[in-house]
Amino acid sequence: LSLSILNDVPVSDTVQRYLSTDLKMCIGGQWLSASSGETIDVFEPSSGELLAKIPAADKQDIDKAVISAQAGFKVWSRMLPYERQQVILKFADLIECHADDFAMLESLDNGKSVEIARHVDVESTIKFFRYMAGWATKIEGTTQTVSVPGLHSTYTKKVPIGVVGAIVPWNFPLSMAAWKIAPALATGCSIILKPAENTSLTALLLAEIGIKAGLPAGVLNVVTGFGNVAGAALSSHPGINKIAFTGSTPVGKMIGKAAMENVTRVSLELGGKSPVIVFNDADIEKAAQGAASAIFFNHGQVCVAGSRLYVQSGIYEAFIQRVSEIANDMTLTHGMDSQIDMGPLISRVQQERVQDFIKIGIEEGARLLAGGCDWQGPGYFVKPTVFADTHHDMTIVREEIFGPVLVAQSFDTLEEVIALANDTPFGLAASIWSNDIKLVHQMIDSLEVGIVWVNTHHLVDASMPFGGVKQSGFGREQGKEQLDLFLETKTVWINYGD
Ligand code: NAD
Repeated sequence: LSLSILNDVPVSDTVQRYLSTDLKMCIGGQWLSASSGETIDVFEPSSGELLAKIPAADKQDIDKAVISAQAGFKVWSRMLPYERQQVILKFADLIECHADDFAMLESLDNGKSVEIARHVDVESTIKFFRYMAGWATKIEGTTQTVSVPGLHSTYTKKVPIGVVGAIVPWNFPLSMAAWKIAPALATGCSIILKPAENTSLTALLLAEIGIKAGLPAGVLNVVTGFGNVAGAALSSHPGINKIAFTGSTPVGKMIGKAAMENVTRVSLELGGKSPVIVFNDADIEKAAQGAASAIFFNHGQVCVAGSRLYVQSGIYEAFIQRVSEIANDMTLTHGMDSQIDMGPLISRVQQERVQDFIKIGIEEGARLLAGGCDWQGPGYFVKPTVFADTHHDMTIVREEIFGPVLVAQSFDTLEEVIALANDTPFGLAASIWSNDIKLVHQMIDSLEVGIVWVNTHHLVDASMPFGGVKQSGFGREQGKEQLDLFLETKTVWINYGD
């Protein structure tokens, strides 16, 4: 397939192979079409042009993948941790060799800047594989010799949970896939990954590279398909030992229910409506840049996006004017254009959904300072939008929009902003902008969230746990804590008395 945005751009053979109407998915080391022969059209979001066709898997394909993953698990879990570590490190090296291919495919599939894809998504994926490879040789149980009664030797072993079913969204397709695959491999599990139906290309390239790195057949399976068909079959399959899901809260609830039918372990990384809280003493310019990037990075399609802005009344008007100026100055274009500040949203459906929220905001009487829902032209763009003088009962303040829409309101006291910030079913992240050390610590203690940033937003690292409280889900990804999501504890008692 050829795309208008690639007219003057050199394209590697690897990328060209993926711009195809005949892509296959990877089950048990084989490249297969869907059993039904059905496919899904995938579109390049800045033009709406056809990018690829991927298999539309159904229950039959998931059944096949589970059998393959069970066979893969037997081989992989019995390999020495050191051998597994070597394969994961080789996997990381090969991702690095293909870094530009991954970046271009991610940009074409998702609409984000190719530069951001290369330096954020791909770079962090390589680091994450290397970080998790390190843990493969350091998974340990405990011994308990002091307090158990009688002559008993007791200890615990950490054993891999088995076959992992992973379902991921479209906003960071490669990173989200990596966040499931790398820890599953490090702990000795096999995995079936179902990427989002609109962004499966980099996941398929990962499967190709994993085989080259030496993963035994069936250890990493990538099955493409719609959520309500392939995803539902995966999350309700009795042969799956653990479901790791990242996506919206409503779908997370469905997946949790389906998994519980088989008492399958489940971890859920769900939605958010994260507050950005700016106090009078903050550096206005730095905090305004921070608040703008908190909401507009990745076009607002980030679970931890700073989508609610609370500014203390002394600097409120100046602050929201500055954030709006930043929004109005942003260049909206496709991911291959070096002028890009913001790309398109993922799909027509998402563009219409976000624009509908903007219409609701206007109808509800919020003050529109930047953006709006009047994008003219091709592609699924939405202008960076800022609403001021919002109220806590407005739809745009309460619901996760998952687009470049910021809602701002002022506050006077610490107690007031804590109550506002916590008055949401979500509890993923928050950022605080102040240099008052007492106030900052009081805020850290009071916010009902899984992640707090101070004078920054959006920072993540392979070593730092990531995840939410309340309806933003449970289980922590990244860091040592994530390993426990993929391990079971086996307790051993040995009687050495008479
Ligand atoms: P989504 O829930 O619609 O889809 C996510 C995945 O679930 C996709 O692969 C989809 O095909 C699949 N799916 C859909 N219906 C399903 C079903 N009935 N059974 C099984 N699988 C199903 O979410 P989205 O629109 O792709 O992504 C946006 C959401 O993801 C936002 O709510 C965002 O906050 C959340 N998210 C959370 C995190 C986090 O770490 N907390 C990270 C990124 C995105």
